[in-house]
Amino acid sequence: MLLHGRTILSVSDYHTLDERFAGLPCPTATIRKVFDGCDWAEGPAYFPAGRYLVWSDAPNDRMLRYDEASGAVSVFRQPANNSNGNTVDRQGRLVTCEHGMRRVTRTEHDGTITVLADSFESKRLNSPNDVVVKSDNSIWFTDPTYGIDSDYEGNKAESEIGASYVYRIDPQTGDVSVVCDDFVKPNGLAFSPDERLLYVVDTGRTHGADNPAHMRVFDVNPGGRLSNSRVFANCSNGLFDGFRLDTEGRVWTSAGDGVHVCHPDGTLIGKILIPSFA
Ligand code: MG
Repeated sequence: MLLHGRTILSVSDYHTLDERFAGLPCPTATIRKVFDGCDWAEGPAYFPAGRYLVWSDAPNDRMLRYDEASGAVSVFRQPANNSNGNTVDRQGRLVTCEHGMRRVTRTEHDGTITVLADSFESKRLNSPNDVVVKSDNSIWFTDPTYGIDSDYEGNKAESEIGASYVYRIDPQTGDVSVVCDDFVKPNGLAFSPDERLLYVVDTGRTHGADNPAHMRVFDVNPGGRLSNSRVFANCSNGLFDGFRLDTEGRVWTSAGDGVHVCHPDGTLIGKILIPSFA
C-alpha cells in the first residue's frame, strides 16, 4: 500500500479483457505516482523489513529509494555503474545487474559489494539486464547487449561472448553456466511459484523487425537444466521487460501501455493502463 504520491488511476481504469481478471485488483486500490524524475525506471526491488523500494535509473547512473513510511524518494547509490535489474535474495540482500561494470553484484548486509559474475569462459559478460534468485539460492540472469550497444546506458563496446545468453550461478560453487543460448535479447525473467517453470522475455525486436517480442516459458529440471521451450505470450503493445508472477501463477508484466496480466495459460486477461506524463 502506497500512502503517498499523486493518485493517477482509480480502480475504474483497470482494463478487463477476460472475466478471469475480474476481482484481481483490490476494489479500493489506486495507483499513485511516487516519482517522475527518471529517464526510465527499471528493476524495482522491495525490502519488506525496511519498507522501502529500490530501483534503477540506468541512463542517469543512479539507484533510487522510495521510503514507504515517509513517502520520500532519495538517491540510494550514485554512481551505480548504470545498474538495471535488481532483486532481493532469500536472505534479504540486494542483487543487482550492472551495465557499466558488466557484472552481477550482491550488496551484503554490511554494505560491502560482492561480485557474483562478470565473465563466462574468461570473456566479459555483455551487460547483465535482469536477475532472479531461486529458493536453492541459485541466481539466474540475462545478458543482452543493451549496455554495450552505446554509451547511453553503459559503455559502448564489442561483445566478447558474441551472443546473448541466459545464465545460472551455482549456489555451491559460484560457477556460471549457460542455461539457454537461443535468445536474441533475453531480458526479464521469473519463476512460477512452484519454481517448476521459468519465464524469460525476448526483446530482440529492438534489433530487428522480424525478431521476437514475446515471453517464453521453460520446464525447470533438477540441476537447473531447462527443457520444453515454448512461447507463452506475444506482446501486443511495445515490449515486455521486467515482470513477476503472483501466488496463483499469473504473470504481471511491463508492456508498452502499462502492466499486462496473463493467465497461466498465456491469455492476456487484463491491463493496468499507465498514462505517461510529458
Ligand atoms: Mg530489463
